[in-house]
Amino acid sequence: MIIAIDGPSGAGKSTVAKAVAKKMGFSCLDTGAMYRAVAWRGIQDGIALEDAEALGEIARTCPISFGHVEGDPVPRRVFIDGQEITEAIRTAEIDRAVSPVSAIPSVREALVDQQRRIGSEGNYVIEGRDIGTVVFPQAEVKIFLTASDEERAHRRVRQNVDRGVGHIDYDVVLEDLRQRDKRDSSRATSPLKPAEDAHHIDSTDQYIEDVIEEICSLAEAAGAVRPKAQE
Ligand code: C5P
Repeated sequence: MIIAIDGPSGAGKSTVAKAVAKKMGFSCLDTGAMYRAVAWRGIQDGIALEDAEALGEIARTCPISFGHVEGDPVPRRVFIDGQEITEAIRTAEIDRAVSPVSAIPSVREALVDQQRRIGSEGNYVIEGRDIGTVVFPQAEVKIFLTASDEERAHRRVRQNVDRGVGHIDYDVVLEDLRQRDKRDSSRATSPLKPAEDAHHIDSTDQYIEDVIEEICSLAEAAGAVRPKAQE
């Protein structure tokens, strides 16, 4: 079974996807990390963000993989070409670079191929922007998770502090996030938009635990069986 969780940045997709995966005994795939990895590698190699050919080549040829922190069933570490980039892809520089990179059709094509391959291996919670619309339109459960701009910016600031990538000014985060939403929603290839059959969840005034439980219940209604120990 595939549980697709799409939505704008900072809506809580990562937290929710990882928690749902743990509760349901599913694997979890963060597709945003894959686009970030390509952007990071491009910057390292001094490639211009408009160089579609070179960035497409990175997406096709540089293996991206995920690793576990001890004792955690959900992968949290990210690698490209064997080099760990878990923290390096969460900087404001990558936040800004990733949208133009992810709008390049050859980059998307290469990463979508990989995402379909990974997702076909078993039960997955997959988070991104186009999972329910393009990558897995046949996903059994589709969620479009949103929150107000202000709430999303507050969460991003807290997340950056927790991740140790420094305190970035709230107004800068809010503006960056709006810019990224605009680019992600208006690009020609696979824009950010809800699938017609997606369940819309607005997490602004909800406890995150309730959002997680709602998605687990939808998965159960679609036939997933919650592992006994987690009930
Ligand atoms: O989810 P996250 O904020 O890490 O995603 C980073 C960026 O990657 C998004 O702003 C978007 O430009 C791109 N992305 C995408 N399609 C996905 C996942 C992420 O275009 N499925």
